[in-house]
Amino acid sequence: MTNDIETLSRDFPLVKQLIELEEVAWFNPNVTSLEKGLPYVGLNAKDIQDASDRLSRFAPYLAKAFPETKASNGIIESEIAAIPAMQTWLEQEYQTEIQGKVLLKKDSHLPISGSIKARGGIYEVLSHAEQLAIKAGLLSTNDDYSKLFSEQFRDFFKQYSIAVGSTGNLGLSIGIMSAKLGFSVSVHMSADARQWKKDKLRFHGVNVVEYQQDYGVAVEQGRKEAEQDPNCFFIDDENSKTLFLGYSVAGERVKQQFDQQGIRVDAEHPLFVYLPCGVGGGPGGVAFGLKMAFGDHVHCIFAEPTHSPCMLLGVHTGLHDKISVQDIGIDNITAADGLAVGRASGFVGRAMERLLDGYYTLSDEHMYRLLGQLNQTEGIQLEPSALAGMLGPVLVSQNPSYLNRISISENAFKQATHLVWATGGGMVPKQEMESYLNKAAG
Ligand SMILES: *Cc1c(COP(=O)(O)O)cnc(C)c1O
Repeated sequence: MTNDIETLSRDFPLVKQLIELEEVAWFNPNVTSLEKGLPYVGLNAKDIQDASDRLSRFAPYLAKAFPETKASNGIIESEIAAIPAMQTWLEQEYQTEIQGKVLLKKDSHLPISGSIKARGGIYEVLSHAEQLAIKAGLLSTNDDYSKLFSEQFRDFFKQYSIAVGSTGNLGLSIGIMSAKLGFSVSVHMSADARQWKKDKLRFHGVNVVEYQQDYGVAVEQGRKEAEQDPNCFFIDDENSKTLFLGYSVAGERVKQQFDQQGIRVDAEHPLFVYLPCGVGGGPGGVAFGLKMAFGDHVHCIFAEPTHSPCMLLGVHTGLHDKISVQDIGIDNITAADGLAVGRASGFVGRAMERLLDGYYTLSDEHMYRLLGQLNQTEGIQLEPSALAGMLGPVLVSQNPSYLNRISISENAFKQATHLVWATGGGMVPKQEMESYLNKAAG
């Protein structure tokens, strides 16, 4: 193995920096147009439309089952907020002028589970439930789906079970949604999962299985257990196209929100989006949806902890899921629990690498500092993972050669929108948040 690491570091000097846990930024020179990149994704606009229609069918059910979604008529969506005071702090702290406007996409405050997983995770459970109910002759796509909120349907779904492996937030989304429908559900939680998430799930009647090992082991055990039960459906965070499509609906939603707010995205008004990346399904699916909504005018950049740079490692070396951060001696231990993944999704990396402009890493200390500052400047509280994207506007502003290569003029950059995707934190208990803020201050 030592030999392999040496060869890899020689072929890819960046790998050496990753091993040394340096913060790095890599803007992929092989990025292509949507037209050229799309065939490699293997999914298209119709697939996203299907997912969007399915979520609309379920909206009347969600509005009834989760009163917090009533105001949005059962549509699970988050706000986009300007964060001017944080933008000013970033500019001063990094001595870098950030042209254009920095906005925050508050998936941290999505209803039901308070993270980006309320998109993909919930969508996959709903898809599975719909399939089962239609097959049993209990449901047709023309029905009012609020009828699923009944003892009859809960009794029906009780015969089936769902299993998933998670670092926390995916388990929360899938556990809460599955239990509400009536499924018997097991969530296999990795060592980094927070206690309050396990407690919350147990409160909802979810079977929580705990592991001393990391995410990869929790997923494998979940998969194994599910294989032994023909009535058990395993939600595969590493390979699921359904999850991916659930996330992708975010693209058209952002477009609608921008239209309402008068925010333009075109050649003269480029959009940069900064997405925290764990296994890759969430940011990959969102990026796919954004590409389909805004074409080549949107530029997506992934952010990872220095201790878990699995997607950057996989894409940069071309080895994708054939290599893990542990293979190069990195421990995959990070306070950004939502991003504590050692091996990236092979599906997402291969599907999306041509459509992603760049990747960067940042330290845990860095995420904590940004967490504290966002609270101080804007009064917005997030979990550490959700801050990973916050450094993006600075890094892009510091890389004129990247902007040059993708033909963004100085004038256009002045009118850019920077959308930092805040992926979680809305449901962190007060005490837990206080300890995050203390760490940020110390
Ligand atoms: C899961 C998660 C992510 C990343 O999503 P992946 O699909 O694992 O890449 C980012 N932030 C938070 C808070 C998450 O829970």
